[in-house]
Amino acid sequence: MLNQGIGSWPARRARKTPDRTAVVHGDRTLTYRELHRRVLRLAHGLRALGVTSGDRIAYLGPNHPAFLETLFAAGALGAVFVPLNTRLAAPELAYNLSDSGSVVLVHAPEQAEAARAAADGAGVRHRISLEGPAGPGDDALAYEELPAGAADEPMDVAVRPEDPCMIMYTSGTTGRPKGAVLSHGNIIWNSVNVLVDTDLGADEVTLVVAPLFHTGALNMTCLPTLLKGGQVVLLAAFDADLVLDTVERRRVTYLFGVPTMYDAMAARPRWAATDLSSLRTLNCGGAPVPARTIAAYTDRGLAFSQGYGMTEASPGVLFLDREQTAAKAGSAGVPHFFTDTRIVRPDGSDTAPGERGEVLVQGPHTMTGYWNRPHDTAAAAFTDGDWLRTGDIARTDADGYAYIVDRVKDMYVSGGENVYPAEVEDALLDHPAVAECAVIGIPDPVWGEVGRAVVVLKPEARAGEEDILGHLRGRLAKYKIPKSVVLTGGLPRTASGKIVKSAVRDTFAGDPAEHPQP
Ligand code: ATP
Ligand code: MG
Repeated sequence: MLNQGIGSWPARRARKTPDRTAVVHGDRTLTYRELHRRVLRLAHGLRALGVTSGDRIAYLGPNHPAFLETLFAAGALGAVFVPLNTRLAAPELAYNLSDSGSVVLVHAPEQAEAARAAADGAGVRHRISLEGPAGPGDDALAYEELPAGAADEPMDVAVRPEDPCMIMYTSGTTGRPKGAVLSHGNIIWNSVNVLVDTDLGADEVTLVVAPLFHTGALNMTCLPTLLKGGQVVLLAAFDADLVLDTVERRRVTYLFGVPTMYDAMAARPRWAATDLSSLRTLNCGGAPVPARTIAAYTDRGLAFSQGYGMTEASPGVLFLDREQTAAKAGSAGVPHFFTDTRIVRPDGSDTAPGERGEVLVQGPHTMTGYWNRPHDTAAAAFTDGDWLRTGDIARTDADGYAYIVDRVKDMYVSGGENVYPAEVEDALLDHPAVAECAVIGIPDPVWGEVGRAVVVLKPEARAGEEDILGHLRGRLAKYKIPKSVVLTGGLPRTASGKIVKSAVRDTFAGDPAEHPQP
């Protein structure tokens, strides 16, 4: 095959394991043979619309087999796949469409209106709707009815590992999402890292619960499973009860999620009665992982592996191997097999064990750069450009195991001491009444900055400022203990479930009397 990229995977899998199940979605099941046929049909349809190598093809919709089909069809044509966040409003979508220069937008019926509004004027030449045009006057093409005359002819486009595969937007936790350009080689090396480090096998049943437009769901779970010929079960969106039910019913072996998802599952009434014995790999990352989350799973005898990564690294950087989950609970592990990291001081020198510093990463899976953002690309490169800056702080123990401390951007300085909110949040989450929390630094005339805890209590629970802060005394140094507590009904989160600290700061940094109460 001329295609060395991931667009060739369905064809290669159909050659090896045509009858194995590739994708399950609701009542629908696709074997690798069927997946390959559908991808080929779509690729021919897109080619008939004029799509050629290097063009960008955007997708907007919940988790669905069509997401994967569009990704692979784009790859078969040498085109670049641009997954879009379903939570974006029409003007934001329009920005992503024109920023990426997408010529085709494939979308789900739920997004028809936003897609239509955004595509107009954004330079999109064709809109393809999974369920066809919404009605008279809608010029969307029907996904299932694209002209695919030569659908049996194999695709013959040359794609090399260094060619761009996707523009994946970061979560937007710290600002406007940035489009990381990931090559086919980047994705392949990340998948190899996952296969090597999790022992992911052909009998894997991988449950995808996070949105596919984020790197964790697509690149840490879905693609490595499909590379190996395992089975991917897609849930349209995260729902804790549905996840527990599906794990039991489908005997799921591999699960990836952000800490909030694992927390939500462990808080459900049916948690204790759910049979989790099929789960072999629990991979948790994307945000600081609280001790309480880890305990909920290890108490059930499960190996709970923390992973650390970022969109820009395709995304896996650190991973806690199964053998170490008990001995090194709380650590994000060591670099993936083909990955290297350094933890450096502000002057660029290497830290000693135990000392905090910024994580740098190097490996065949780090991005080529941000799309259309030369300034950000330059800022992410460390000195000679061999290392990618992560903007995250970590330390290692004497054995070289890394502990993620927090983001550089979330740290604040109180009385000359650095405070890492994730550590304070971890201690707060230990309080029996606390469901969620975020700690921010706010200006203070005496200390420069002091902490404020923004707390969501568990349903029916009661706790006041004194009780909550009292819980921290004796556990944390005095300068780390917030000076005020604000109770609220919920915290702003990204589509992948991460707390948006900048939005917490915008809402809760001012006078507490003005804050929304639960
Ligand atoms: P943006 O870059 O747009 O602000 P984002 O950084 O949240 O958003 P992602 O690429 O999805 O976008 O997330 C990567 C970040 O998630 C890492 O840089 C890190 O801050 C955080 N993260 C990932 N894994 C862990 C972990 N195990 N512990 C703590 N933080 C983590
Ligand atoms: Mg980031």
